[in-house]
Amino acid sequence: MKGNYTFTIIKPCAVQSGHIGAILGDIADAGFRVAALKFVRLNKKEAQEFYKIHEERPFYGELVDFMTSGPIVVAVLEKEGAVEGFRSLIGSTNPKEAAPDTIRAKYAESIGRNAIHGSDSDDNAKIEASFFFSRNEIFNSEGGFVENLNAAQ
Ligand code: GDP
Ligand code: MG
Repeated sequence: MKGNYTFTIIKPCAVQSGHIGAILGDIADAGFRVAALKFVRLNKKEAQEFYKIHEERPFYGELVDFMTSGPIVVAVLEKEGAVEGFRSLIGSTNPKEAAPDTIRAKYAESIGRNAIHGSDSDDNAKIEASFFFSRNEIFNSEGGFVENLNAAQ
């Protein structure tokens, strides 16, 4: 069964281009509830750790430099089947291959500067959300704390 939470980052290019509001609007229009939200800037060590899974890929250095180049918006989002639904909403990694009306089709500049991140599994959503948020910063729809993200799957 699928969990109800995913994690996202509005990347430095989209922040710099003034697309925070439009992207959060598209996310809300697609039926996602914001469970946690903050505006932060990663240092090099943090970006290296967050993207450690891509350490061996040729674009790792470029990715870390890009993700530390300016502030980002990080958020936890709630919707039934959140991970899969959000990956559909953002579109393919390469904006040239992203379906029309997806967030990457609308706001990405290139495969590197591709506007937005979305977790690729329930387990990674939990790991990535925990990287940025403590348990008293993620809220359920009643305004209480989410005890265990994607626990009841
Ligand atoms: P995602 O899950 O769709 O974000 O894609 P991946 O997990 O494969 O890659 C993580 C991120 O690395 C992507 O969102 C891009 O920002 C970046 N990336 C992936 N492939 C490339 C590439 O070929 N060149 C560059 N510069 N960045 C890339
Ligand atoms: Mg990925």
